[in-house]
Amino acid sequence: MEQTLHLDNFIGNPRIIEVLKRANEQDRLPHAMIFAGPAGIGKCTLALLLAQVLNCLSPVDKDACGECSACKKIYATLKSRHLQCKSTQGNGFCGTCENCRLRMQRHPDVRLIEPEKTTISIDQVRELIDEVAFQPFEARYRLAVLDPADQMKIEAQNSLLKTLEEPASRTIIILITTNPYILLETIRSRARLLQFGEIPRETIEQYLRSEGKMTAEDAQLSAALSGGSLAAAMTFDTIAYREIREQAFRFVKLLLKGEDFTGTSLLAAQVSKDKKSFATWVDAVTALLEDIYYAVTAPERIGQGDLREKLEEIAHNTPKPKLISAIDATGNLKRELKYNVNRQLALEAMFLTLSSRQQ
Ligand SMILES: [Zn+2]
Ligand SMILES: [Zn+2]
Repeated sequence: MEQTLHLDNFIGNPRIIEVLKRANEQDRLPHAMIFAGPAGIGKCTLALLLAQVLNCLSPVDKDACGECSACKKIYATLKSRHLQCKSTQGNGFCGTCENCRLRMQRHPDVRLIEPEKTTISIDQVRELIDEVAFQPFEARYRLAVLDPADQMKIEAQNSLLKTLEEPASRTIIILITTNPYILLETIRSRARLLQFGEIPRETIEQYLRSEGKMTAEDAQLSAALSGGSLAAAMTFDTIAYREIREQAFRFVKLLLKGEDFTGTSLLAAQVSKDKKSFATWVDAVTALLEDIYYAVTAPERIGQGDLREKLEEIAHNTPKPKLISAIDATGNLKRELKYNVNRQLALEAMFLTLSSRQQ
């Protein structure tokens, strides 16, 4: 049985939870808010949990019960997020498939507005504006969550301004975004900005372990490599990653030793073939180099504990400045990947630059 989500067991960003709880207790929740922060940390989930708290029919200790009809409908909104109709292939909704049926269980007063195709259209925003002009059907509070709000074109954003300025009573609009500065300044100035942070690696690891779906080793690896995103950590493919990591580790050893150009060049040719997997491979190289660095500076921060002994051995045989140069060089390579860089040449150049260093 799935555990019921609550404000009290929300993972990460405890300060924001406190702010929202206190504002709610004092009946001072802003009518418009921007939830900003990295992808995959639960901004939209939190917005819908807040909708539950505001509308729960039988709250327990000021938190939503998760069981009443209001809570269940809002949960259906959360569950049907990102779900497309199974028969129309993204062109509207048939109303009868499994996904559509789940959508139809959504709470009428808690609206989740997601992009149709790639943008949130001005029509979607107008529909919302018309809706919030009236009292909620059954809810105490009407909530509208736009996710991601930065997918509104400028005209759609402009059309929302008046509603943000003069909101209907008992209506809260939440704009979700990874970067609030993409939104119009006029939108930002009318909404309270709540900046979410990455979820600490330890918190993610602890959560993955408590879920019990991964081994402790995989939980540690997923937490370390998901960039502070719980969603990414939960779906992290450790098997595929370990395969990529093996080649990454070979490269790291060659790079830090700096003796075998031919071997490095062969490996570079191999891993450079596919652009997409190359990016993951570079991430793996970075994660390994960072862990080698941690092995001497902060062993408790090593993310890939399954390699600890090997990492430590390399750390003790590598001068620190060389290690730092290698980390810098990988960072540069990652940035260059945005342009059409010759991947094999870039790796060979990295090897040559590093091996020409005295240390
Ligand atoms: Zn409830
Ligand atoms: Zn359907």
